[in-house]
Amino acid sequence: MDKYQVLKQYFGYDAFREGQEPLIDGILAGKDVFGIMPTGSGKSLCFQIPALMMEGITLVISPLISLMKDQVTALNQAGIHAAYLNSSLTAGQYYKALALAKEGRYPIIYVAPERLETDAFLDFALGARIRMVAVDEAHCVSQWGQDFRPSYLKIVEFIKKLPRRPIVSAFTATATREVREDIVDILMLREPVMVTTGYDRPNLYLGVQSPKDKYGALKNFVETHPGQCGIVYCLTRKLVEEVTDRLRADGILATRYHAGLGDRERRENQDDFIYDRCTVMVATNAFGMGIDKSNVRYVIHYNMPKSIEAFYQEIGRCSRDQEPGECILFYSGQDVVTNQFFIDNNQDNQELDALTRQIVQERDRERLRKMTFYCFTNECLRDYILRYFGEYGSNYCGNCQNCLTQFETVDVTEEARALAGCVSACRQRYGVNVILDTVRGANTAKIRQYRMDASPFYGVLAKVPAYRLRMIMNHLMLQGFLTVTGDEYAIVKLTGDSVRILEAGETVTMKMAKEQERQPQEKSGRKEKKSRTAGVSLAPEDQELFEKLRNLRTEIAREEQVPPYIVFSDKTLVSMCMVKPGNRTEMLSVSGVGAYKYDKYGERFLARVREVVNCRG
Ligand code: ADP
Ligand code: MG
Ligand code: ZN
Repeated sequence: MDKYQVLKQYFGYDAFREGQEPLIDGILAGKDVFGIMPTGSGKSLCFQIPALMMEGITLVISPLISLMKDQVTALNQAGIHAAYLNSSLTAGQYYKALALAKEGRYPIIYVAPERLETDAFLDFALGARIRMVAVDEAHCVSQWGQDFRPSYLKIVEFIKKLPRRPIVSAFTATATREVREDIVDILMLREPVMVTTGYDRPNLYLGVQSPKDKYGALKNFVETHPGQCGIVYCLTRKLVEEVTDRLRADGILATRYHAGLGDRERRENQDDFIYDRCTVMVATNAFGMGIDKSNVRYVIHYNMPKSIEAFYQEIGRCSRDQEPGECILFYSGQDVVTNQFFIDNNQDNQELDALTRQIVQERDRERLRKMTFYCFTNECLRDYILRYFGEYGSNYCGNCQNCLTQFETVDVTEEARALAGCVSACRQRYGVNVILDTVRGANTAKIRQYRMDASPFYGVLAKVPAYRLRMIMNHLMLQGFLTVTGDEYAIVKLTGDSVRILEAGETVTMKMAKEQERQPQEKSGRKEKKSRTAGVSLAPEDQELFEKLRNLRTEIAREEQVPPYIVFSDKTLVSMCMVKPGNRTEMLSVSGVGAYKYDKYGERFLARVREVVNCRG
């Protein structure tokens, strides 16, 4: 079989996605490869397909038990022999799996990095023909990344012990330069074929809101997305519990996840969500790594996260099947304070020496600042993120709140001059709040103590509302007219460009949303139309068929004890609704239906389609 046949036969897809072919071809040519592709872009197939085509065994190193289990289940469902070796197996199960592996039963074996050093595993590996070591989530080798795992450093030592060096392939969604370089160096990749595909996830709608009543806004969102699964991220455990309780009291099938819960509850709650028994998962950032659930239709950030990296990783769990999804961030000023607190009290940093700790803290503060700007920018939100990761998008995506809001260009020269002037007049000694309070003429103890009530700028912008001044301040920083120091005091400083406002008399303009468009009502009204059908674009008359197929999928998932999306993804069900296959050949033409799955449940789905179509008659 060639790679196209494998793709069709086992996975049911007709075409490769961007990036997949060069990586697969590289491996088949015996080369190391390194794939940097966003979440949901299909990295797994890049090592699974060559693994099925080559002689010998492919070991897949993966950081999390849940991740391995999910992928192995999916492979088994597609008729591929695969196994995993990790601490979730009993000793009996483990040795049995090893024995079968020795017999050459599995072309693909997932293994936890900790296992690589154990005698039993080494004994097997030295005697077997290991053709490839595929390192999934390869950023775990880097201390720069968010998810550093010391056990990942053992991979290279393991490879060195093998009698023949296997092909080494590495995959990650992390795009920053430090992490990429670390991966190549630490895994000692040999002239790898590198493929980087765009970081963009055009199917995700991005939005930022600052609701006065966050819970009310959340409830409204969940209720206008009935039947859809979503994740709600909160900054603290306490908030997770509070929000879960309130949602439940309001009759919503919500569950919760955070590091303070027992193993058992965490596992059960995660399963409830994955198996569609609960539709809303309320969680801290402890939840999500290794969740391959493809039909999460929205990710709500109940609080602003600490960095764009964290944010992008979390919204990456939305609509992995590339159907439309929505990612809304609920901003409030308190989120900045909470994140600052976490940065200042980061327990992970305790072992670092003072200087390193300071550098890490400054880096974290800078990341937090960039995250905060995301909440304030009036430019395309997607473009903002892509630029953060060093990619250049267009400045109009057409699928974010800012691109879809009507803005007007406002002249803020007067305000800009006063703000920059005030910074200059106080000799660049104070933070944002002091500057804002000064120009607004606030009468607080701090202002009196700093003698800012004597500043020539005291009260000069008393008529401008506080929120608007803050927006203008943020705009000046975004544009580089002002900056703040990276230490904990965040002192506002002038930049080389400040003179353009202070002396050269340059006009400063910025985009502001037209007032009536700020109404949250209008926004949710507009969104509702678009996303009522489980996030997918179906004709109304096909809705019924979709629901019927979904029920059948749930039935089968129960029988097989696998998550529903492992039977067929939402996307595959949607294609079925559009194609309305009448026989085997037509069913096999549906994207996501492979021969093996057809043999297992194709007939049942065909029957269901026929039922509905005939009855429409
Ligand atoms: P990643 O590891 O890059 O986050 P996955 O490998 O988990 O992504 O794949 C995400 C989804 O995309 C899976 O449901 C997978 O079956 C699907 N997929 C992968 N390749 C293709 C393809 N060529 N055509 C259609 N769907 C694909
Ligand atoms: Mg993956
Ligand atoms: Zn946009």
